[in-house]
Amino acid sequence: MMANNEADLIVFHRNLRIQDNEALSYGSIRQNYKCIYVFDEAYWSGNGKSLRQLYFLKDCLRELDNSLKKINSKLEIFIGNYKEFHKSLINNKFTLHFNYSTDIEYYKSQFTQFLKLAKQQYEIKVYNDFGVQRENFDRDQWSRFWENQMNKPLCPEPKINKASHDCSYLSTHTVEEFINKYIDIQKPDFIEIQPGGSSKAEHLLETFFNERCNGYRTKMSNPLDAKDSCSRLSPHFSFGTISIRSVYQKLKKEYFKSNFKSDLYSFKKRLHWHCHFIQKFEAEPNIEFNSMHSMCDNLRPSEDQELIEKWIKGETGYPFLDACIHHLRRYGWINFRMRAMIMSFASYNLWQPWQKTSPLLAELFVDYEPGIHISQVQMQSGVTGINLPRIYSVIKQSRDQDPEASFIRSELPELFDESNDNIHNATIDVDYPNKIVDLRSSSANARDKIWGIRNSDQFKKIAKQVYIKHGSRRRQTSR
Ligand SMILES: Cc1cc2nc3c(=O)[nH]c(=O)nc-3n(C[C@H](O)[C@H](O)[C@H](O)COP(=O)(O)OP(=O)(O)OC[C@H]3O[C@@H](n4cnc5c(N)ncnc54)[C@H](O)[C@@H]3O)c2cc1C
Repeated sequence: MMANNEADLIVFHRNLRIQDNEALSYGSIRQNYKCIYVFDEAYWSGNGKSLRQLYFLKDCLRELDNSLKKINSKLEIFIGNYKEFHKSLINNKFTLHFNYSTDIEYYKSQFTQFLKLAKQQYEIKVYNDFGVQRENFDRDQWSRFWENQMNKPLCPEPKINKASHDCSYLSTHTVEEFINKYIDIQKPDFIEIQPGGSSKAEHLLETFFNERCNGYRTKMSNPLDAKDSCSRLSPHFSFGTISIRSVYQKLKKEYFKSNFKSDLYSFKKRLHWHCHFIQKFEAEPNIEFNSMHSMCDNLRPSEDQELIEKWIKGETGYPFLDACIHHLRRYGWINFRMRAMIMSFASYNLWQPWQKTSPLLAELFVDYEPGIHISQVQMQSGVTGINLPRIYSVIKQSRDQDPEASFIRSELPELFDESNDNIHNATIDVDYPNKIVDLRSSSANARDKIWGIRNSDQFKKIAKQVYIKHGSRRRQTSR
């Protein structure tokens, strides 16, 4: 560690906010600081990353830059990986500040190598970003840890920057230069995604507490109602435009005066789940590639590219499933139940390895959060060993969640004149893709294969170990 560091360098990753941001708050204390976002193209073409997420990022960077300008600072973009970033820092006296991120293997290895090299020359501070234990993970103590983290006072506001420290050796870009050069030149592959930035997150939270949460518990299940009745904060949590602790603390205040207590109680549980799932990934990063239960990787030994392509394009011949995928492709978001059904169809009915399908689905989500996504994908594929396999029936979901087929018709106008029954049963008269699989026989087949291995003693022994490491100690299911 070096003494007498002159300046502070605050490095942003997935904490793109001013409020309750430890790295920014503590890094600004000496009022001589720089704010940098490291843009690594290889990371952005990694597992599950996509252009729609970059579009969300662009709003977040713009707003953060504008907010930093109000405190005499700004956001600068360094283009390169962490190794190159480290090289650019050489011979300068800094304390570096980061908020920790649980992220894909590529980022993790880059960041770990960076820390190893950089700590020989610089003082480095890495802060927890939310309720995830980085070291000494203890599943039995985790809930207590989470409550403590969430109840801590919010960080002080960042201080005004007083220095005009020269950082030209870092060769950074302004936010606008970066956006023009790297984002705006790419043609969007969506119709309309949620806008990014902290002010949008605050607005969502306010409208959710005031009115939109009315009926949240039940409305969250169908894709049309869920669009307005869910908080829609997920991309904001993923990019860190709002702190989960600040949401939790506002929720506690709101709860007592709210007329929608049971709805808000459900929301509170999900804030807990957010970190619970990310914790699994933090504690066992190889679940990005391997099933939590090691015997499950032999279940689906090969993939069928043609089936996978039809699935991810929404050409399965099952209108409700296809409509959900079309919706997701257009807007970058769909509700939990439909995500679970989409995944269940790929893993059980099509019997495709989740490792091949998971990144394709993640790319469609603006809110891609590896810890939640990968854990949920594994749950919906029956490979955790600790959750009971649930095979969603697309036909039942179609009837239950969209009885009048209005959602389906809005996404698939070619079915406008088709009867509701035909649509739900996937027996379409007009020109429409053929069904790529028989639901009944593929579900029965999947059930046989899954339960074929679950009943063995060896399976149960490994499942117990998985439970000890990851299993929820609370009596609650994650939907
Ligand atoms: C296959 C699959 C993949 C998923 N991938 C992602 C992903 O990449 N990113 C992501 O944020 N969520 C993911 N989810 C969980 C869930 O669908 C989304 O969090 C939710 O739909 C986001 O909308 P919202 O913010 O309006 O949620 P709300 O219902 O308003 O919930 C508030 C917050 O709680 C958390 N949350 C809600 N449900 C869950 C859950 N079941 N597990 C963990 N945390 C939850 C999220 O952070 C969410 O923003 C996935 C679910 C499935 C089945």
